[in-house]
Amino acid sequence: MTATATHCPYCALQCGMTLERVDDRIAITPRDFPTNRGGLCQKGWTSADLLSSPERLTTPLMRQTRAAPLLPVTWDEALDRVAADVRRLQAESGPDSIAVFGGGGLTNEKSYALGKFARVALRTSKIDYNGRFCMSSAAAAGNKAFGVDRGLPFPVTDIGTAHAILLVGSNVAETMPPFVQHLADAQRSGGALIVADPRRTPTAQSAAVHLQLTPGTDLALALGLLHLAMTDGYVDKEYIADRTTGFDDVWRRAVTWWPERVERVTGVPVEQMREAVRLLGSAERAMILTARGAEQQSKGTDTVSGFINLALALGLPGRPGSGYGCLTGQGNGQGGREHGQKADQLPGYRKIDDPAAREHVAGVWGIDASELPGAGVSAYELLDSLGTVDGPRALLVFGSNVVVSAPNARRVDERLAALDLLVVADLVLSETAARADVVLPVAQWAEEDGTMTNLEGRVLRRNKAFEPPPGVRTDLEVLSGLADRFGCGEKFPADPAAVFAELRRASAGGIADYAGVTWERAASTGGVFWPCPDESHPGTPRLFRESFPTPDGRARFVEVEHRPVAEDIDQDYPLYLTTGRVLAHYQSGAQTRRVRALVDASPEPFVEAHPELALRYGLHEGDAVRVTSRRGTAEGVLRVTETIRTDTLFMPFHWSGAGRANSVTSDALDPTSKMPEFKICAVRLEAVPAEAVQHDVAVS
Ligand code: SF4
Repeated sequence: MTATATHCPYCALQCGMTLERVDDRIAITPRDFPTNRGGLCQKGWTSADLLSSPERLTTPLMRQTRAAPLLPVTWDEALDRVAADVRRLQAESGPDSIAVFGGGGLTNEKSYALGKFARVALRTSKIDYNGRFCMSSAAAAGNKAFGVDRGLPFPVTDIGTAHAILLVGSNVAETMPPFVQHLADAQRSGGALIVADPRRTPTAQSAAVHLQLTPGTDLALALGLLHLAMTDGYVDKEYIADRTTGFDDVWRRAVTWWPERVERVTGVPVEQMREAVRLLGSAERAMILTARGAEQQSKGTDTVSGFINLALALGLPGRPGSGYGCLTGQGNGQGGREHGQKADQLPGYRKIDDPAAREHVAGVWGIDASELPGAGVSAYELLDSLGTVDGPRALLVFGSNVVVSAPNARRVDERLAALDLLVVADLVLSETAARADVVLPVAQWAEEDGTMTNLEGRVLRRNKAFEPPPGVRTDLEVLSGLADRFGCGEKFPADPAAVFAELRRASAGGIADYAGVTWERAASTGGVFWPCPDESHPGTPRLFRESFPTPDGRARFVEVEHRPVAEDIDQDYPLYLTTGRVLAHYQSGAQTRRVRALVDASPEPFVEAHPELALRYGLHEGDAVRVTSRRGTAEGVLRVTETIRTDTLFMPFHWSGAGRANSVTSDALDPTSKMPEFKICAVRLEAVPAEAVQHDVAVS
C-alpha cells in the first residue's frame, strides 16, 4: 500500500504526517508541513496505536434499562431505538427535549452536519460543543475588537520573524512541542520571549522574562502593561488615531493601574513588567499570543480584551510580522466553531438570530427560515440543565467525553444520570460512553476523509489511509442513518466531499467564507486560508493589513476592568488550584490513556506543589494527596517542584475516577463567552493513604 499524506488527530497545530502499513504495523513518518516542519510530538508519533487498539468498539451497544448491562446489538436496532425514544420524548416534551453535544475534534463536515442535524432533523435549539471550554473567550474578544475570530490572523511561520513575543497562559513546550520551533526561530535571531504563567513551565523556562502572576490576575497584568506602555512612551499614537476607536475609554481604566498596584495584585515585580513592555514596545515586530490560561476564567473574555488592547496600543495587529493571536487547542477548534455546532451560530460564522443569515442557510438546507430554531444555551449550561424539569431529557454526544472534561464534573455525573436517554458515538468506551444507553462505534481520523481548519485558519484535508474495522461507521453515516429515520435522510449525505460542497455554499458570504476552498484545493495546496470567497481567490493568510472587518474598518479598543476570581482562597480553602495538560496526554485522555507508550510516559494523575508548601503541610515527593474544593475531591501523587508558586497547586485534567481534576474545578462562567473558570478555584490539600489513590488507566 502507498503512503498516505495526512495530519495528526490531536491538536490544532495539525502536524503533517504520512501513514503506511508495513507488514502488520502502521508506520508514521513526519511530513514537512508549515506548522510542524517535519516535527511531531510523542502523541503524534504514537497516534496510530489507537487504530488497532483492542479497546476499539466494533459493534453498537445498548442497554434496556439503566441497571442493565450494555450488550451488542445491530446498527438497525441501535438507530431504531434512538429514533423511537427521540420521537417519544419530543411528542411528550417538545423539540428541545433533545440535546446534542459536539466536539472541537470533529472535522468541518461533521461539525456542519451535526449543527444541521440538530436544527433540521431534530428541530432542537439545544446544541453546543466542548470548544466552549477551550477557545470561546478569545473568540468573543476577537469578535469585539476585530469583527472576526480567527485564532492566528497570520501564518504560524510569521512567529519566527518576530523580535518580541508575549505568550500569556500557554505551555506550548508540552502541549504542542513542534510549535516551539517557531519561537526558537525568533529567539535565534535575537527575539525575546516573555511568558506570563503562574507556573515556570518548560515554556516559561526558555523565556527572557517570566511573569509568574497570581492565578486569575492576568487582566490586572494586561492593564498594568498598558499603563507602562503609555507612561514609558511605547504607545503608537499614529496607529491608534488611524486604525482604532475607543482608546480614551480604555486609558481611563488603565491609568488607575499604576505599576505598584499591579505588583500588589499580580505578584509580578514592577521591573519585570517594565522590561516586558520595553521588549515589546521597542521591537519592530512584536506579537501577543494568548491561550487557555488567559481564557479559562470567569473574566476570560475581558482578560483577552485586555491583551488585545495592549496589542492595539502598541500598533501591532496588521503590521508585518506582528499582531495578536489566540493559540487554538483542539484539532478543529477553529473550524468547529465556524459551522454551526455553537448554540448561537449558523455555518460561515453567521449569527443564528440574524434574519439574513437564517434566510441564507435555510435556503441551502431547503427549509423555510421560520422552521429554524433560535439560539440554544452554552455547553455547561446545557449539561447543567439535563434532566431538570424544563431541561432536555435526551443527549446525543459526538466527539466529546464530558464526564472527564466538563467542570464541576460531579454535577455533570448527576445530570447525565437524570436523562431518559444518553447516546454516545465514540471509538472506544470512554467514561461518557460507559454511561450511555446506546453506544455507536465510529471511525477514527485515519479511516475517513475530512477537512480541518487549524490554528491559523488554514483549511486542510485530512486524508483517509485505511478502511475502518468491520462494523464501524463514520459519524456522517450515523447522522445519515438517523436522519433517514426522521424522514430527511436525503438532506444528510454520508460522503464528506458532498457535505463539504454544501458547507461551502452555506458559508458563502459569511465571515468564515469557504466558498472558494474546493475539496481538491484543501488537499493539493497544503491548505487554503479563509476567507476565500471564490475559486480564483488565493485565500487570506494575513488579515488586517489594510483594515479590520468592522463597520468603519477600525479595530475597537474594549473597555475592561479587573475583578477578582469567582472563588478566592480563604481560611477553609487556602490554596489556588490551576489545571492543564501534560506532554503525553490529550484533553480527557480517552484516546491517549489507551496508548501504552503515553501511559508509560505519564501513568497517573499528580499534584504539583512548591517545596515550601510541601514543608508546611509535612508532605513529601511521592506522597498520595487529596485536593478538595467546595464541589469535590481529586487525588494524585505529590510532585514537589520549585516551578510553581507557593500558594498554588497544579493538576492535569486527563484522568477519571479518583484522579479526576474536574471533580474539583469551578463551574463559574464568563458572562460573555460562557467559558468555565477551569484555571482557578480555591482548594485545600491533605495526605491520603497511598493505597487509597485510584484512577482509571484504560490500556489493556
Ligand atoms: Fe502535532 Fe499537536 Fe499532533 Fe503533537 S498533538 S503531533 S503537536 S498536531
